[in-house]
Amino acid sequence: MEIKLYNTLTRKKEIFQALDDGHVRVYACGPTVYDKIHIGNARPLVVFDVLVNLLRATFPKVTYVRNITDVDDKINARAAERGVSINSLCGETIKQFHQDTNALLVSAPDKEPRATQHIAQMIAMIGQLIDKGFAYEAEGHVLFSVANMQDYGALSGRSLDEMIAGARVEVAPYKRDAADFVLWKPSQEGLPSWDSPWGAGRPGWHIECSAMAAEYLGEEFDIHAGGLDLIFPHHENEIAQSRCAHDTNHMARYWLHNGYVTVDGEKMSKSLGNFTTVAKALSTHRGEAIRLALLSSHYRAPFDFSDKLVKGAQIILDKLYRAAALNEAKQPLSEPDKLDAVFMAALSDDLNTPLALTRLQALASEANKGSREAALQLLSCAKYLNLLEDKNWFKSDHAEGIERSEIEALIEARNAARAARDFAQADAIRDKLAAKGVRLLDGPDGTSWEKS
Ligand SMILES: [Zn+2]
Repeated sequence: MEIKLYNTLTRKKEIFQALDDGHVRVYACGPTVYDKIHIGNARPLVVFDVLVNLLRATFPKVTYVRNITDVDDKINARAAERGVSINSLCGETIKQFHQDTNALLVSAPDKEPRATQHIAQMIAMIGQLIDKGFAYEAEGHVLFSVANMQDYGALSGRSLDEMIAGARVEVAPYKRDAADFVLWKPSQEGLPSWDSPWGAGRPGWHIECSAMAAEYLGEEFDIHAGGLDLIFPHHENEIAQSRCAHDTNHMARYWLHNGYVTVDGEKMSKSLGNFTTVAKALSTHRGEAIRLALLSSHYRAPFDFSDKLVKGAQIILDKLYRAAALNEAKQPLSEPDKLDAVFMAALSDDLNTPLALTRLQALASEANKGSREAALQLLSCAKYLNLLEDKNWFKSDHAEGIERSEIEALIEARNAARAARDFAQADAIRDKLAAKGVRLLDGPDGTSWEKS
């Protein structure tokens, strides 16, 4: 099966050619674990999951690496702000990340390396860059010299001046060029620090991914994926480090970038404060509905997140589950060439998930008209999107004898009672929900709930 992917590096949709047909290697940038992930962070996890499913069905072996950045200034700042240790902040955030990704039915990557466990590889790579004349030491820092790399900037296609302006690159007296970026920096007292030939310090963010990608995928690999906002400077700098350290023409052959998640047309981001954490969204919606909603736009297009959209996704899932239940075969089909051709063609065409979802709905209609084959195809194709695998889909909303919508209505009534200082009524609602196995969690973002 031919897979076409849009490659940011060439700005073209290309037929995917594996470097080694026996083993496809994929890297995606993972979270920096200082805070809960929001829907914008969840999008690449979900869409590149689908890519990996498709590759796994097509090639005998796929290695998918998604890292965890657990050394970063944001982590240090947040731990200090909250008065907790860096270790406990990272541990807690990683646990929450795994809960969130499980709820969104994101498959685990083959490797999930943590930056702090690969410092030796980073130090070795920085050493190679210095030896080859691409990096220099200055005042306890090691910097990559962009002037020494001929085609620096090829991924983003920007001029050096634009890049400096766009990235608000720190101007520091020890830099030879304003665009030079940090590979290693000294650590202040009390912050994470490792011994290195350049003194005690810690790595810059970009070198982490270059070192971990090389460790698990080799010097050149097939696909590197991430969000659009990572193209510059992060991916540009990963390419610079990896290619210069390894003397290769590519770090990865194909660079895939997902579009932004927006809210009312504006990019969802921590800095704008317009974000919805996955944990919060899961208190109102089911993970599978959020997942389907995320796949309802093409991954390169912007995705406008709203409760209404996820509610619509839930209704679609109800229909799909009902139709899939009409399938009588015990096992879904697994070989790609036995699967519905329209669905597979959509997915293979640069992951056209909106079209693939439309096809699933058409298959559901055919199943409802009596086609057992369509029901089987529906179930089998949905596996590529990690959908329709919940055997208790229709049970789980009713398991506690209370519907999700009723829980939401009661939370609203309780909020109203609290606002009116009617605490007896507010407590009565809390107790009523507790009796049904629903525990309320009051936090700074409002009230969420979980099954107790
Ligand atoms: Zn990265």
